[in-house]
Amino acid sequence: MSKHASSQVSKPPTVAQVLARGIFALAKASDSARTDAQILLAHSLKKDRPWLVAHGESFLTPGQAERYERLIERRASGMPIAYMLASAGFFGREFIVNEHVLIPRPESESLVTEAVAFLRSRVDPMRKAQILRVLDIGVGSGALGCSIAAEVPQAAVEGVDISAEALAVATQNARRLHVHRRCTFVQGDLGAPVAHRSFDLVVANLPYVPTADIAPAPDPVSFEPRLALDGGPDGLDLYRRLLEVAPTLLYPGGLLLLEAAPPLMAALEALVKGAFPDAATVSLGRDLGGQERFVRVQASLP
Ligand code: GLN
Repeated sequence: MSKHASSQVSKPPTVAQVLARGIFALAKASDSARTDAQILLAHSLKKDRPWLVAHGESFLTPGQAERYERLIERRASGMPIAYMLASAGFFGREFIVNEHVLIPRPESESLVTEAVAFLRSRVDPMRKAQILRVLDIGVGSGALGCSIAAEVPQAAVEGVDISAEALAVATQNARRLHVHRRCTFVQGDLGAPVAHRSFDLVVANLPYVPTADIAPAPDPVSFEPRLALDGGPDGLDLYRRLLEVAPTLLYPGGLLLLEAAPPLMAALEALVKGAFPDAATVSLGRDLGGQERFVRVQASLP
């Protein structure tokens, strides 16, 4: 039988068959090949993962099989799943993501926990229309700022980013999470668009990867925007610039939270102490994995 004839009479593939093929195809590119293949197949079929397990003998239509095949190829080339599905979970919510924004990391969630606890401690139950001003510098997808707005109804969040494309994503996320009335986004360089303004809380997850450490393709990080990762030779270039203006951005008693990688924390803490010689406290916070992940600075009261 010719190849052509055999493909014409071949039976459509089953869920179990394409899943097995997908796992095999992803074995090199992913250390979670099974989960990835399941997520991509569920997405292609518009079902959930438990459905796949219960329907291993179901047949795919040629269109479904082709869609899945294409997703597997892209994932095998290293493309992160979050970009393929245009979605990433963060702090219990789904965020829209695309290749103009960093994929939110679980390591950043403890910074949100800290931010939310601080703001709640500032809520005065006797005040009716209290507003707590929050600034998210380098807002990206809006993961930090929109999470904070969603958790604290008194929070009014301003997000600054140099990337117009990122701001478009943050705007969509604010709408989706129904916090858009309390979130505004402005394009600009670090604190420039909000110079001479003050906030109760400032958060920043600036690019902090030392240039030489940015992983090359096919590492998933190579698909993320360099603009959101590259922190210069030692990773701290943008924080150095931000810290020149940061003290003016905080109300007395206000809090600044800066995320960085664990190996950079000592150097970042030293920079922060230099910029805030009169701070009430400067200390390090840990992520959920127990690693040092952010610097917290509380401005002193007059
Ligand atoms: N946490 C990210 C990473 O390790 C970097 C995030 C950033 O530069 N702000 O890839």
